[in-house]
Order: sequence, then structure tokens, then C-alpha cells
Amino acid sequence: MPSPSHLRIVFLGSGSAGNAVVVTDGATTLLVDCGFSAKETTRRMALAGLAAEDVAAILVTHEHSDHIRGVEVFQRRHGMAAVACTLGTRRAAGFDALFGEVRTLAIGEAERFGTLTVVPFRTSHDAAEPVGYRIESDGGQRLGLATDTGVLSVEAAEALADVDLLGLESNHDVRMLENGPYPYYLKRRIRSEQGHLSNADACDALERLASDRLRRVFALHRSTTNNSASIVKRELAARAEAIGLRVPVDVAPQDDVLDSCPPQGSLFGEEGGEL
Ligand SMILES: [Zn+2]
Ligand SMILES: [Zn+2]
Repeated sequence: MPSPSHLRIVFLGSGSAGNAVVVTDGATTLLVDCGFSAKETTRRMALAGLAAEDVAAILVTHEHSDHIRGVEVFQRRHGMAAVACTLGTRRAAGFDALFGEVRTLAIGEAERFGTLTVVPFRTSHDAAEPVGYRIESDGGQRLGLATDTGVLSVEAAEALADVDLLGLESNHDVRMLENGPYPYYLKRRIRSEQGHLSNADACDALERLASDRLRRVFALHRSTTNNSASIVKRELAARAEAIGLRVPVDVAPQDDVLDSCPPQGSLFGEEGGEL
């Protein structure tokens, strides 16, 4: 078990077929997006030894189906889970018709969820009021999650400037997208300022966000058509090295979980000797 206040992040899957991330400090467990069916979300959580019943709240980034597909059923089955999002997302997703209560989050304002403090920051995406989240444990460990954004705004860069763990979109390789099978309008949408960060954009964002605090980077929302995990890893690792940033880079898969502290990590992980 991670020590209290030590953040554990479990990416249940990342990409246009579905997104969901579990964030827990051992005392409070949050789900960021629920873009798989409730059943699939529960199954993937179980793979990481996590129980759906422990989710205190589902934070939603925006109303696209790859982020909200399972929210309604998951919340209904596990009534403990509150749904929380911006007013724009709440309206665009039609959450008022589905849930008795939705916690409305204001951009830039901190909200407490148990032992975790959450601050939404604006992203640049073709949705009503999309956000990323900065999540801080009472022990002072910080996570930033920025996905589904065409550009990294000044506001987002500020929110992510001093995080320990960073989940950053690295959606497409520009050349693969241009030469790939998507129709023109979709290519244009993805590349627009309200679309998705390319690998090159992610490298530039990483350079902007580099700090002495940053310990780990997770590449998110990778396209399975217009990108490859090896390219993402290679390009981000090369940029990190070029700027003297020593952080491991992992690419969150679409079809499998990625756990920042897998159970054996407490035995053999970087905290070494913690048996
Ligand atoms: Zn998405
Ligand atoms: Zn989206």
C-alpha cells in the first residue's frame, strides 16, 4: 500500500475509444472521466486491485462520449460517487436529467474531495467548457492532467508548472495524421487550436512545464491510427534529455491499464526497502 498522501495514478485506458483515470492517496479515490462502460471501468479497476465502491467522485473533463460514456451507470451502481464538472459540461452532457445532484466546479477554484484538493483549469477543445485537473494530496504531492486540448494555454501552463506527476496529451504524429486515412475535416479539427496536442506540441509543452519537482510523465490520448507508442516515447524522452530533464516517460495504452505504483512497487519501487 502506498503511504497516506502518496498519490497513486491508474490510467484505465487512454484514447478516443475511452478515457478514465483513478487517482487515490489511499484515503480518497477519485475517477477522472468514465469513458468506458461502467462494467468495463469496474473490470479495469479490478485489474489494478481497485474497487469501484471506493470512488468518492467522478470528475468529468468534458462531454465527449470517450470521456462520459459510463458516468451514468457507474454512478447509479455506486451511489457513493458524486459527479463533478464545470457548469458548461454539466449542461452539455445533460447531467441534470440524470443525477439528483452534480457538484459544479469553477475554473481556477479549489474544491476539496476528502483528502484531495482539486483545481480545474481551462483547456482548448471543441466542447462547452472543457477542463483539465490539478489534484493535490494533503501530503503536498501534485498531479496535473491535461488532455483533449489543441494548445497549452498560459493558464494551463501555470496550473501545471509545479506538479510532481504530469499526464500530458500526445495525440498524433503530424505526418502520420496528414498521410493517414482520416477525412480532411477531421484532420483539420484534430490539428486546430480546439483539437488535440501533437507529439511535437507535447514536447514543447513538456519543455515549458519542466521543473525540479517533476518526477514522472505520462503521455495520454495517443491515437492508435495516427501515432505509435514508440514514437511518443522516443520524442518525449529525447526532448527531456535535450533540456536536462531526468524523468521517465510512459505512454498510457488504450486497451490496458497503466499503474504509477503497481502493488509490487511498494516492495521493489524507488522508495526501496519499504517492505
Ligand atoms: Zn477524448
Ligand atoms: Zn474530446
